[in-house]
Amino acid sequence: MNYLSTRGLAPQLRFSEILLGGLASDGGLYVPEAYPRFSAAELDAMRGMNYRELAFAVLSRLVDDIPADDLRALIDKTYTAEVYRYAGPGENAADITPLKTLEPGLHVLALSNGPTLAFKDMAMQLLGNLFEYVLDKTHGELNILGATSGDTGSAAEYAMRGKRGIRVFMLSPEHGMTRFQQAQMYALADANIHNLVIRGVFDQCQDIVKAVSNDLEFKARHHIGAVNSINWARVAAQSVYYFKAYFAATRSNDEEVSFSVPSGNFGNVCAGHIARQMGLPIRKLIVATNENDVLDEFFRTGVYRPRPETKHTSSPSMDISKASNFERFVFDLAGRDAAKIRSLWGAVESGGSFDLKDDGLFDRVAGLGMASGSSSHANRIDTIRTVHQRYGVMIDPHTADGLKVGLEHREAGVPLICMETAQPAKFEDAIREALGVEPVRPAELADLEAQPQKKHVMDADVEAVKRYIVAHAG
Ligand SMILES: *Cc1c(COP(=O)(O)O)cnc(C)c1O
Repeated sequence: MNYLSTRGLAPQLRFSEILLGGLASDGGLYVPEAYPRFSAAELDAMRGMNYRELAFAVLSRLVDDIPADDLRALIDKTYTAEVYRYAGPGENAADITPLKTLEPGLHVLALSNGPTLAFKDMAMQLLGNLFEYVLDKTHGELNILGATSGDTGSAAEYAMRGKRGIRVFMLSPEHGMTRFQQAQMYALADANIHNLVIRGVFDQCQDIVKAVSNDLEFKARHHIGAVNSINWARVAAQSVYYFKAYFAATRSNDEEVSFSVPSGNFGNVCAGHIARQMGLPIRKLIVATNENDVLDEFFRTGVYRPRPETKHTSSPSMDISKASNFERFVFDLAGRDAAKIRSLWGAVESGGSFDLKDDGLFDRVAGLGMASGSSSHANRIDTIRTVHQRYGVMIDPHTADGLKVGLEHREAGVPLICMETAQPAKFEDAIREALGVEPVRPAELADLEAQPQKKHVMDADVEAVKRYIVAHAG
């Protein structure tokens, strides 16, 4: 299996060769040369599988340059009830992603039972084990540099802590994350985890990461890498839980289900698109956004128009203005025409937009089974309240966005599965506003904020960050 770039001008590579990289050399994203497709008999056999078996069945079709036994061992080590142990009441941790039924035909898929209580652990934990495996083989070193406004940084740190050959330098803003999110990161005592707290806001953190990464000589000399959401292995690993949920919500492979997905960078929805390309009977993929509605606008109108500014909302992990994985979806929509992608993203990268109605491409979107909607702060609070009253279940603000939009597209007789992307414990303010109580939190994390913290506070200064990396990169 080769991987090719959506822009068609980069060399084709194998899975292990794109694992540690970001963008392809032509600025595109890597995708499989063709999606493998499960036969009806194979899907029947998958119905009885547990999470680890399913993960191997799916990922072994996408990864053919890691020996099968090694891949299986990496998967078996990752998807355990111990790692995904923060299952809620009535959920079985051994399911890894338990399906909660609110009422017949309406389900919530718990993706946030991993160490940081957000769905990013689903892929990031596997990524940590894959990175360590590949670096071990090549005797390589990797210094991961990133900026976080909350969920990504903690998921990366918990995935990479204690891993041989890997260090993490994670920039976070002094203000802007919840106390719980700060404590999650700063309470990690592992020697290979470096929390750089920047006196500034998130955008300044991100600018510093860009400036350091643009210094190609520095980047190469210090083995600087990233774990951003365009990473193919992350997207591939996420497609597994679509299969798990489908089998849990249906009795036969003749049935179809729809998924509603709280979306930001389009990584999660892209994983659903891949599962469908691989033969999973998905009726609709419903893209739910918050007030940052660039994706909703596209799926309603055919116009993709990234915004210069991001709005800060009460579902902050979906606050994006450019959906980085969206290019993978449009590549398939455009019949895998790389020249077309180069021209569309040429417009986007010079600050513009594109309209797929112009050449009839947008007509294909409905045929692919896509839908969308957006949500406001008031909708979010209202949904948290309604779900709690009606079903006795507490959901976080991102999951609330997904439920609100999912219900707008619900069809009689088609099970609707809403992705739970975080636990309410991470977003206390919204829960307090909606329900007037503190969110439930795993007992093990009861005194998280009281634990000793390890962090290095510094000015928003590129040179200072570089000096820190040089001194600690080994
Ligand atoms: C990252 C994140 C999202 C958005 O997921 P994408 O894959 O970027 O679309 C939604 N909810 C939560 C809680 C997240 O952490």
